Amino acid sequence: AAKRAGGNCYRLFDSAMSQQALTKVALESEAREALLNNQFFFALQPQVSMQDDALTGFEALLRWRHPDKGLIAPGTFIPVLEHTAFFVHVGYWVMEHAVGLLAMLREWGYGHLTIAINLSASQFLDKAMIPRLRDLINDSGIDPSRLEVELTESSLLHETEQALVIADELKLMGIKLAIDDFGTGYSSLSYLRNIPAEVIKIDRGFVQGMLENEADRHIVAATIELINNLGLTVVAEGIETASQYDTLRRLNCDVGQGFWIAKPIAETELLSALRQHCEKGYWKLPSDHIQRPLIGNQPKM
Ligand code: C2E
Ligand code: MG
Ligand code: MG
Ligand code: MG
Repeated sequence: AAKRAGGNCYRLFDSAMSQQALTKVALESEAREALLNNQFFFALQPQVSMQDDALTGFEALLRWRHPDKGLIAPGTFIPVLEHTAFFVHVGYWVMEHAVGLLAMLREWGYGHLTIAINLSASQFLDKAMIPRLRDLINDSGIDPSRLEVELTESSLLHETEQALVIADELKLMGIKLAIDDFGTGYSSLSYLRNIPAEVIKIDRGFVQGMLENEADRHIVAATIELINNLGLTVVAEGIETASQYDTLRRLNCDVGQGFWIAKPIAETELLSALRQHCEKGYWKLPSDHIQRPLIGNQPKM
């Protein structure tokens, strides 16, 4: 069809390309503004220990309150920004903000909780990342073991040598490395022994298919067993139902995360949510079946 349409088609193609480039350039300068004007914030999703239902910490999910476009989810802007030179600065903001939150949690008496941040490959492989993180930790005096860095399998595939060096440096600093969306990349199991990760997050696709699909269930069960046997922490993400939660708990999954447990909480709501739910005892549920979500009816963020 492209050939038959001739010149017009190429022109169309060209304009689509330049449109894309324009969007990228525009978004990059908007992201610059966003950092200057505090338009980024975290939505914090609780993670709970599945054996005793206690809160262990939060995953920090980036949100952008854009002056014209409203609230933008990371799935919209990260894939575009990821390929800009500016994106490392967004990563610096994420690291700085997470460390600040950890300092706040400690002040509020929740110093045992962890914050997990997500870094894209370009942010993780950036030479300035480690020294910046080291400064942030030294200046804040937070316990580095409360900070977790989530990376996807695919970020680890690229430039493996350098990724390994950086992963080792994180470990030396006492920061935990988590493999996100485990099972969706193309990497082999061998990196489980090469990468010094302490936490493995099973992708929500497997969790959600688990009860209907026998193959998914076997994959989840075997993965949990493997990770447990390796002495690593296994997290299940995307838990949306009580039966998924219950099945995962029986399979000895360590930590759970998902809408059924709690939706992400806006930063501004964090302290009140912590107080409210600790008061109600929701973070520490009775160990028989859980009847209700830990946090209900939050607006979807
Ligand atoms: P992720 O790291 O795998 O984060 C989990 C995503 O699943 C989040 O989407 C979360 O809101 C969503 N989620 C949590 N529980 C459930 C559930 O029960 N069901 C379903 N259907 N979804 C659930 P979100 O916040 O839109 O983030 C999407 C992705 O964007 C993240 O996937 C992560 O890869 C990336 N991301 C988020 N924040 C950052 C960041 O600060 N930096 C970078 N580089 N990437 C980020
Ligand atoms: Mg993640
Ligand atoms: Mg994930
Ligand atoms: Mg995911």
